[in-house]
Amino acid sequence: MTTPVTIIGAGLGGLTLARVLHVHGIESAVYEAEPSPAARAQGGMLDIHTGTGQPALAAAGLTEEFRGIVLPGREATRLLASDGTVLLDEPDDGTGTRPEAQRGELRRILLDALPPGTVHWGRKAAGVRALGGGRHEVAFTDGTTVTTGLLVGADGAWSRVRPLLSPATPAYTGVSFVETFLFDAATRHPAAAKAVGAGGMAATAPGQGIQAHHESGGTLHTYVALARPQEWFAALDFGDPAAAAARIAREFDGWAPELTALITDGDTPPVLRPLHTLPPRHRWQRVPGVTLLGDAAHLMPPSGEGANLAMYDGAALGTALAAHPGDTEAALAAYEQELFPRSAAAAEDALRIQEVCWGPGAPRSFLDFLTGAGQTG
Ligand SMILES: Cc1cc2nc3c(=O)[nH]c(=O)nc-3n(C[C@H](O)[C@H](O)[C@H](O)COP(=O)(O)OP(=O)(O)OC[C@H]3O[C@@H](n4cnc5c(N)ncnc54)[C@H](O)[C@@H]3O)c2cc1C
Repeated sequence: MTTPVTIIGAGLGGLTLARVLHVHGIESAVYEAEPSPAARAQGGMLDIHTGTGQPALAAAGLTEEFRGIVLPGREATRLLASDGTVLLDEPDDGTGTRPEAQRGELRRILLDALPPGTVHWGRKAAGVRALGGGRHEVAFTDGTTVTTGLLVGADGAWSRVRPLLSPATPAYTGVSFVETFLFDAATRHPAAAKAVGAGGMAATAPGQGIQAHHESGGTLHTYVALARPQEWFAALDFGDPAAAAARIAREFDGWAPELTALITDGDTPPVLRPLHTLPPRHRWQRVPGVTLLGDAAHLMPPSGEGANLAMYDGAALGTALAAHPGDTEAALAAYEQELFPRSAAAAEDALRIQEVCWGPGAPRSFLDFLTGAGQTG
């Protein structure tokens, strides 16, 4: 089967591309490995930035829908010392520029804005091959194939499309997150809820940290960061959630109990999320008929920018294709010319933010960063 613009991956990047193409009357087909939109909890709150995520949603014609899913008050920021001392407490006074929304809600407004049938669920790309003349064939794990004149890899960190363009593979950063959720926090986990406050809270030290968000429905969503080799985590028994959580909490001995409760009092089993990155200046030579966006193009350490950039890439690519009707190569060249420096700058920033968060100067370096005292550019 020959398909129109073929997008692998229905994450925020791929869906933004599909929507912006639709706004310009260009048909696309999105192939997504997950069996349905509800297959996986799209956890996490995302702050959507003025320079990236917000213009992408504007290009998608979804600014009003976005405003409708913003969670008021969630831009509040707290930084605590490991003993619970408050180093910074900035309330959300409604003048912030980084509105927060649940990732799942963002995905929903994008999905709702696509023509029915655009996303083909349960279609996991197994491999891709060049057919010549800018055409490519995608083979799916269910044995089906499609061929296309424009293939876009929006399939995240472990992209199956990327090998067409680049031999790069993600490398472990040396830091893993462990994710926990505490539900009905105000009544069931009041001390932890108070420590986190209305929005986001971080408590960091060299090589480790606890970052939590007060999400919709009174949920505390926490990422515990630990700089340890992957073997260290592999030795933990995540099949015994309480034991794994207790072992991780031991690395935070001496920290305030309302902070370690975010590790030990989870209402769901802790989930290990090793952090990987592509090289910060990852780029490729133009190959006819194929490109990448989002994490597939520029996986970087979490800095609050990855999803924003993925949406921005999707909007930029859709806009470039609309601006070059009948000349896909000119559109891809224009898109990539801006993609590479944009991603390199963001990746450098992300690396610096990691250093600020849990480098040797933490938490002071993080406090200086948040208050503007330590910013270099
Ligand atoms: C712990 C953590 C916290 C983060 N917090 C933030 C934050 O606060 N703010 C922010 O902006 N960013 C954040 N990020 C980064 C952000 O999650 C990513 O940068 C963003 O999701 C990238 O979007 P994407 O569309 O490129 O890829 P993804 O969101 O990874 O979407 C890729 C899609 O492709 C599908 N797929 C994968 N392989 C295949 C295949 N072979 N065939 C078909 N489909 C496939 C996947 O199922 C998925 O739906 C965080 C990342 C992590 C790890």
